[in-house]
Amino acid sequence: MSKKVLVLGEIRQGELRQVSFEAIAAAKQIANGGEVVAVLIGSEAAILANTMIQYGADRVVIPEHPHLQNYTSDGYTQAIIQVVEAETPEAIILGHTSMGKEISARIAAKLKAGLISDVVDLEVNGDEMAFTRPIYSGKAFEKKVIKDGLIFATIRPNNISSLDKDASRTGEVAFIDVEIKDLRTIVRDVICKTAGGVDLTEAKIIVSGGRGVKSQEGFTVLQELADVLGGAVGASRGACDAGYSDYSLQVGQTGKVVTPDLYIACGISGAIQHVAGMSNSKVIVAINKDPEAPIFNVADYGIVGDLFEVVPLLTEEFKKI
Ligand code: FAD
Repeated sequence: MSKKVLVLGEIRQGELRQVSFEAIAAAKQIANGGEVVAVLIGSEAAILANTMIQYGADRVVIPEHPHLQNYTSDGYTQAIIQVVEAETPEAIILGHTSMGKEISARIAAKLKAGLISDVVDLEVNGDEMAFTRPIYSGKAFEKKVIKDGLIFATIRPNNISSLDKDASRTGEVAFIDVEIKDLRTIVRDVICKTAGGVDLTEAKIIVSGGRGVKSQEGFTVLQELADVLGGAVGASRGACDAGYSDYSLQVGQTGKVVTPDLYIACGISGAIQHVAGMSNSKVIVAINKDPEAPIFNVADYGIVGDLFEVVPLLTEEFKKI
């Protein structure tokens, strides 16, 4: 049976995050020929609505209220609940991002719905849907099968391929007034610590550094490799605690969970808490001068050597391609 599926598009720094398009692709599978309705919130929503349609949404709903210009979990939750009440979808899909994690739990609680979070794969077999999600910090996977009731899931970035952009697609963009009340927080302005660059959670290639990088300056060697590869720089908590890198780049259990196509771990020992955040990367390369370092247990390719010799060599070679 075909279904109506609601998808939240996520806007950051004036652009739609890639996970928004991956959520549309997941929604299309669940919709099974039914309608995919995208919800876009925020000051740039109107400008970006057509892009959601070009990536496969059938129409876009934009909730409007002065307090929705900037993200607050309270405001966005109230707006999405009102769209859900108006649209009565059979499924809701959000990205498993900081925003998605925060509001999905609130929306699920308000709707008294179950929530399958952090989905990395999806199988649709008629009305039966199986959602795969990692458990025990990525050491095992569980499959949740839904046979009836509201389907509500968050999908991990970089796991479900988005559809190709089709510039000829058109669809309705509707603005609806929503009521936002009793807000506990009002965001007046957003000042970003870093602008531009590749978002760590959506990066296809990550060059990550640990305590072995030895200093903040040492990270420039990793940045050079990341720039040549069009990737992002990440860090272990060891490197962050030592002041070599910003905590916003920390990968791991208490940092960001990443699933790039390629993760290059440089001077990282491979502690379980770090591995929890990167073990599902498609290809892992470890560079470490200690051949016994546990990172080699999860690596597909290992280079035993000094990162300050190996990384510049890699950069030079990749520059030639
Ligand atoms: P180290 O363990 O000190 O390893 C440095 C490595 O660099 C060594 O293997 C060494 O051989 C190698 N090395 C040194 N010099 C060179 C060189 N010149 N060339 C090549 N290799 C070199 N950690 C995280 O990363 N993310 C988390 O989210 C996280 N959450 C945590 C949560 C909790 C509750 C706890 C208790 C810990 C958490 N940790 C986390 C910390 C984790 O346990 C480790 O302490 C940390 O990951 C170690 O960082 P590291 O590998 O950079 O440093």
